[in-house]
Amino acid sequence: MGLFKTIEKSEEQNSQKSQGDIEKVKCLIIGSGPAGYTAAIYAARANLNPVLYEGLQPGGQLTTTTEVENYPGYPEGITGPKMMEDFKKQALRFGTDCRFGIATGIDFSGTNRKVIFDDGTTIEAESIIIATGATARYLGLPSEQKYMGSGVSACATCDGFFYKGLTVAVVGGGDTAAEEAIYLAGLCKKVYLIIRKDFLRASKVMQKRVMDVPNIEVLFKRNTKELRGEGVVQEAVLIKNQDEPDQSEEIIKIDGFFLAIGHTPNSGPFKPFLETDEVGYIKTIPNTSKTNIPGVFACGDIMDPVYRQAVTAAGSGCRAAIDAERYLSEKH
Ligand code: NAP
Repeated sequence: MGLFKTIEKSEEQNSQKSQGDIEKVKCLIIGSGPAGYTAAIYAARANLNPVLYEGLQPGGQLTTTTEVENYPGYPEGITGPKMMEDFKKQALRFGTDCRFGIATGIDFSGTNRKVIFDDGTTIEAESIIIATGATARYLGLPSEQKYMGSGVSACATCDGFFYKGLTVAVVGGGDTAAEEAIYLAGLCKKVYLIIRKDFLRASKVMQKRVMDVPNIEVLFKRNTKELRGEGVVQEAVLIKNQDEPDQSEEIIKIDGFFLAIGHTPNSGPFKPFLETDEVGYIKTIPNTSKTNIPGVFACGDIMDPVYRQAVTAAGSGCRAAIDAERYLSEKH
């Protein structure tokens, strides 16, 4: 027998449904990455009867990764999709009501916050946990799609290890690209850093660090035209000095192609009500998951531009559920 008893959906939870056109819930979780599911596990075990909406990419960004080797508890590694399936199973085991749907309308003006989903459901929630994540930006090349998971990655920390001793390229000139290039240089034989301008946007200290690493070669004024290879990435075709009289093409031999051109936080619908930074990350009160609206909490990549790891997202999902539980117990 397991340590915890499986909780069946209770009468109380079912009776909360449909009062007129509005469904009332204690805890609504939006998003289904490690943050959302962890929040659901904690909220369900705290009797908050959470309803979780999975959104556009059920399972979140991890479902686009292949092997995950850095999540503690999986000594042999696990694929991203399987890990998210396990997260979901654990959330369901304690009675989370998992649904598919996209939040299309938000009204956080009243005491109970309302969210409208694309299936027409309106939910009025006493507490809301936003875990809608961020989406890595890609260049938009057809060949980038073709080699997704076969040489193309948007996370050096996640996938760098698979390129140990090989040659890779990183695209981008910001702090993330600089950090990722340095990280990869510690594992790989050679790292090309591909920058479309003739300067790095990264902070001075990061620029210096990049320049000091002998196996990083910075390629300024290069745009990527295409990736090529037999089943996996083997080379990138670059355009040097694009739109200038001396424009030319060059080919670099690589085994991996890492995007580090920024992330877009999926905070659009919440922006009229929640404070965000200039990029769109939801601001939280330091060391909590609390947003500027009482009863609305944020966790995972939607509020974390820095760490962006499955394990840190899961940890912040736990904090959000604990914050929601404390908020509700103080309210009642
Ligand atoms: P970022 O600062 O927005 O940099 C994005 C980089 O990608 C820029 O160099 C940009 O080039 C390039 N880029 C964008 N679209 C491109 C395209 N289509 N083709 C080629 N290149 C393209 O993003 P970030 O590096 O992810 O950083 C985000 C924020 O987090 C920043 O404020 C950063 O300082 C912060 N951050 C801090 C740390 C730290 O403190 N340790 C670490 C990581 C990130 P252009 O310059 O030409 O626009």
